[in-house]
Amino acid sequence: MKIVKPGDLEPTKLRFSCETCGCVFEADASDYSFMGYTGYDKYYRCDCPTCNNECVLKVEGGDQDGRT
Ligand SMILES: [Zn+2]
Repeated sequence: MKIVKPGDLEPTKLRFSCETCGCVFEADASDYSFMGYTGYDKYYRCDCPTCNNECVLKVEGGDQDGRT
């Protein structure tokens, strides 16, 4: 099978790292929330399970077709 154009599924698990306490954790889609786009990049936020600080994750969109 050859993928001509990959689909656009949201990643189900994202790995966050907390800048406040250094915790690294994986969050399910039910745990984090989508913040928005800046250009190609997507931003997600999740509360740190250790210190409750808000962690923001940037997911680079790479070579997608330029939707914003
Ligand atoms: Zn933390």
